[in-house]
Amino acid sequence: MEITVDGGTVSVPDGSSVLTATRTAGADVPTLCHDDRLSPAGVCRVCLVRADGELVAACVTPARAGMVVETSDEEIADHVRLVVGLTIETLPARALETPSELTALCARLGLGAESFAGASDGSRLDDSHPYLSLDPDLCIACGRCVRMCDEVQGTFALSLVGRGADTEVCAGDGGRWVDSACVSCGGCADTCPTGAISTPPTAVATRTTRTTCGYCGVGCTLDVHTRDDRVVAVTPDRGGEVNRGHACVKGRFAHGYVHSADRLTTPLLRRHGELEPASWDEALAHVAGRLGRIRSEHGPDAIAAISSARATNEENYLLQKLMRAVVGTNNVDNCSRVCHSPSAVGLSAAFGLAGGTNPMEDLDRADMILLAGSNATEAHPVVGARIRQAVLRGARLVVVDPRRTELAALADVHLRGLPGSNVALFNGLARLLLENGWADLDFLAARASGLDDLQEVLTQLPLERVEEISGVSRSQMRAAAQLYGEAAHPAIVYGLGVTEHAHGTDGVRTLANLAILRGAVGTEDGGGVIPLRGQNNVQGASDMGALPDLLPGYQKVVDTADRRRFSEAWGVPVPPRPGLRIPEMFEAMRSGRVHALYVMGEDIAQTDPDSTHVRAAIEECELVISQEIFLSETARLADVVLPAASFLEKDGTFVNFDRRFLRVRPTVTPPGSARTDFDILTSVAAALGGDLGVRTPAEALEECARLAPLFAGVSHERLDREGGLHWPCRSARDPGEGRLYLDGFATPSGRTQLAARPWLPPGEEPSTEFPVVLITGRRLVHYNAGTMTRRTPNADLRPAEQIDLHPADADRLGVGEGDPVEVTSRRGSLVVGVHRTEATSPGQAFLAFHFPEVPTNRLTSEAADAQTACPEYKVTAVRLRPVGPAIPAGGAG
Ligand code: SF4
Repeated sequence: MEITVDGGTVSVPDGSSVLTATRTAGADVPTLCHDDRLSPAGVCRVCLVRADGELVAACVTPARAGMVVETSDEEIADHVRLVVGLTIETLPARALETPSELTALCARLGLGAESFAGASDGSRLDDSHPYLSLDPDLCIACGRCVRMCDEVQGTFALSLVGRGADTEVCAGDGGRWVDSACVSCGGCADTCPTGAISTPPTAVATRTTRTTCGYCGVGCTLDVHTRDDRVVAVTPDRGGEVNRGHACVKGRFAHGYVHSADRLTTPLLRRHGELEPASWDEALAHVAGRLGRIRSEHGPDAIAAISSARATNEENYLLQKLMRAVVGTNNVDNCSRVCHSPSAVGLSAAFGLAGGTNPMEDLDRADMILLAGSNATEAHPVVGARIRQAVLRGARLVVVDPRRTELAALADVHLRGLPGSNVALFNGLARLLLENGWADLDFLAARASGLDDLQEVLTQLPLERVEEISGVSRSQMRAAAQLYGEAAHPAIVYGLGVTEHAHGTDGVRTLANLAILRGAVGTEDGGGVIPLRGQNNVQGASDMGALPDLLPGYQKVVDTADRRRFSEAWGVPVPPRPGLRIPEMFEAMRSGRVHALYVMGEDIAQTDPDSTHVRAAIEECELVISQEIFLSETARLADVVLPAASFLEKDGTFVNFDRRFLRVRPTVTPPGSARTDFDILTSVAAALGGDLGVRTPAEALEECARLAPLFAGVSHERLDREGGLHWPCRSARDPGEGRLYLDGFATPSGRTQLAARPWLPPGEEPSTEFPVVLITGRRLVHYNAGTMTRRTPNADLRPAEQIDLHPADADRLGVGEGDPVEVTSRRGSLVVGVHRTEATSPGQAFLAFHFPEVPTNRLTSEAADAQTACPEYKVTAVRLRPVGPAIPAGGAG
């Protein structure tokens, strides 16, 4: 549609506002209540223009074809000045002290301190929250913060209260901010145009660097503001392709750890039982000498390495190359083994490639989302918020989860299946899709295989039996199947609640069955199957071949042609036998087959299951090298500790949960003599007499792209120029494939494969002795081993772990909020305070493993998925016993 703005003609899409048209024309129309990320409100009346002769607020006036708009003349300027003058007359003059959109507008209009006539001594300031403060006397009631919290974050923690000129924002019911439902995403402070809501004051930054968040696998684009080589603030990039100006409390605020006084700054060598500082020359000579001796005495397979899902792709590429080309073993694995290896195996078997099938953007058009085994608003908060946004738009939501998570509380149907019942439940839904005509028979005939075998398995599993296994009623199952079956654009999103089970791969396959039956994958309409990968670069660590059986780009170690490609490029033969998986490494360390373990950026002593066994393996192993940013639980036990850089100090790339390569850029220099993992690995290779053949991260990715057809078109230079790229990206001109399989599945037959998998009981079941099922997972404000977040004010928001217990179970034990209980499994015990909550079902309990004082993985079992060795973190049989005096619940303030 064409309209005239200030005498020129502009073309804007139908449905645009007059404000959009004026901006398209390059006119500078001021606004206060407007934010492009939010619905227009039209409350401040500052964006006045004349449209077809009438003075209107441009943000809420629809543009019409042929409209004539004028944006500036004396009358408009007078009106704007009057409106702004009335807005600020009740504000105190200190509103001018901090630069804001309001102060910029006042300067433009020539409104100085004399126009601010409000009386306020600042005594109403609420600074109860560690990251956000509210000065209600600076509020102009534009409602941007409220809309940000409602529309983008979906938390509804803020509201406008009062009448007329006394209207102002408040958090929760008007009490202290920290006691409200705020999840600390910081969106309100980012959008507030006056400084009424603000983040702690910092020094003025002199440099801003764009990078990718190093916490979870969402891959938010962040702007890191620095001064004098220190991070002063982090803000989300409004143009960020995944996060679109949004972030969570970790990415947005938890950066203080980077300058923590206890960062590792020098190598440490264990001498006479103690870790003592050493120079890099000493440490490298020591590492090379001992690795060289172990290799010559016991062979290369006596050495193993665990790569890091926190490190960059380039560093993961280097570590697997170091092990294969310099040490001469395939003993390299990464922590996807203990989280999403069932996704890689399950999705590859079903569809062909080891990643999710659809991009994040497809959630925006989904009219139905089936969310399974994911507490997305805590573990992947920006995706969780996007799902909330979809629900607010009208999308239907089915949640499969034993816990009543925030999203489960919002769902149309919550299938609260018992832990370990996923396969039965997904098979039950498959049966309902087929029985009720909700399956897409044309799609199945044209593009899928395996229907007969699946039907055979389903015949053996009547819904009554599913009900018995899962505890979910048939009517609820039917309601869920109907919502998924009848939706036009159904999407499946899932998390570790599907994979971290003794039959995790079967869980992924039977969940993928639903998308296949419905014809909702590999099509323009379908939302596919999207795994929420755990750590920031767990997808990339596997993509780069930090796996014992797979080379970069999922090429097989056992395939002669694949192996030859790497052998020729690297100039050394790649060993033909697959190496050890992480749990097998621990066994081999205890049995004396592995004499050296190289751990890059993983705290295996805290995060791997059955940690008593893991610690014993570390202690019994001749040489353990830990490359870390802090003296983690693993580093404390190691023989050599090499100080590494954090993600804020690195150059490279990550791959996020939807297979998107994203750039990581250094924002500050590493402390002391800490080095990037890239530099350390290059030095270790050189000390071993090898040459990794690449000098920079850009060269490493270039080499990987030459050898792995899936990434052939990806390079730092292209990512810098174009932004993120989905793989497969097979050439420099390939835009990358966000939505996969439109032209056929990547399986050998080109057809997607239904899986016929019967339900099998979990590895560990409750008994009279251990009657409670413990589920483990994450909390919003902390991350994984908590090494980073516990060194930031996030620790004020949650200073300690508590076990979530249903009030009925707590009453039976006679324990109140905060009372300590001893939790005992077949492997060990710990003491922790109780949190009474109906989010957890009776007979179940929930713990995270962010705090070393509560070593949750002392309890978890060695039971693991038969196909991938992914541990059964989600089902541990425990008993609880009240002990001692109450432990304070803690919390900020
Ligand atoms: Fe970082 Fe994940 Fe939070 Fe985004 S959602 S800011 S990637 S932790």
